[in-house]
Amino acid sequence: MSDTGNEKYVQFRKVKKSYDQSTLVVKEFNLDIRQGEFVTLLGPSGSGKTTCLMMLAGFEDVTSGEILVDGKPITDVAPYDRNIGMVFQHYALFPHMTVAENLAYPLTVRKLPDNEVKRRVADSLALIELEEFGKRYPGQLSGGQKQRVALARSLIFEPSIVLMDEPLGALDKNLREQMQFEIKRLHEKIGFTAIYVTHDQTEALTMSDRIAVFNNGVVQQCASPDTLYEEPANAFVADFIGENNNIPATVHELNGDYFELTLGDESRVRAISPSKLEPGQECILTVRPENLFIGTPSSHNDNSIKAKFITHLYVGDFIRYLFELGDKTEVMVKVLNDQQAPSFKPGEMTNLTWSAITGRALERP
Ligand code: ADP
Ligand code: MG
Repeated sequence: MSDTGNEKYVQFRKVKKSYDQSTLVVKEFNLDIRQGEFVTLLGPSGSGKTTCLMMLAGFEDVTSGEILVDGKPITDVAPYDRNIGMVFQHYALFPHMTVAENLAYPLTVRKLPDNEVKRRVADSLALIELEEFGKRYPGQLSGGQKQRVALARSLIFEPSIVLMDEPLGALDKNLREQMQFEIKRLHEKIGFTAIYVTHDQTEALTMSDRIAVFNNGVVQQCASPDTLYEEPANAFVADFIGENNNIPATVHELNGDYFELTLGDESRVRAISPSKLEPGQECILTVRPENLFIGTPSSHNDNSIKAKFITHLYVGDFIRYLFELGDKTEVMVKVLNDQQAPSFKPGEMTNLTWSAITGRALERP
């Protein structure tokens, strides 16, 4: 591994992709990935995530733009020579080969000497804590074990980059969470550059150094998990990452660091914004359910609006309250389930309050 270009180990430069010469499924993808970074491409189905991985792996052509690895364009490098490991949702282990033979496969096709293959297979089984399973066939493994073998097989030839396309999609929730830790552990131990694809925002938030949020072939925002959560750049990101209330609003004026907004029921609230909004412009006020409070305004929660109680829902540790604003906009509030949790009759009016810095005025998607 070279030291040069570490900050830009993988570069997507103005990458566009069309499968049919008319529609672009990747519109203009720019991303620099640091060596050893764990980057996730997150977005709904069909947003172009897999296509970006396939172009990097060399299984799809780039329609325009270029991809560089370690400062060198890879367009003319055959997939096999790109030294990239891959893991997919369907493990694609060879069913007629044992676990040890599956692990050995990438090494034997690369013509490594037998003793080296033996050593690496043993190390690899130890790495995934399946030392006793070398002689089993994939059919004799659980889903989680198969996926660990697939992961180990993608790492055994020591690729500098590992691409993972929804690798945990076929596993149930508990196993998926276990495997998320397993992948993180291997990433931290080995230090490969990871590019991970998922449509699951929780998975992206827990695993990634940075997340690129895709929609319709366009990256909406690329940032660390906490920045995406706390400072979404637009209404799509605000909605896709975590939960958000989307309240239609009109910009009244800019007042210092805050925008004064008028809501549908003519109430006035303050919010911050990443965009330069103009007076009169329509926007979306986003506030997370956990940042809203029920009751009288305080110096801390300086925004206040009237709301009608509709219903509530117990969700273990917390209660979700559904309210309706004067213009029928529905608003969700999340409250810890303790003695203080208020109760209402359907139709009862109350105040919802929040701190102006937790509300964001975002441009409409
Ligand atoms: P994602 O991985 O985000 O679900 P994809 O990259 O698989 O999205 O797909 C993006 C778009 O490109 C979709 O509209 C999909 O139908 C289309 N597409 C993907 N692969 C092909 C292909 N081999 N030929 C034609 N269209 C494709
Ligand atoms: Mg995909």
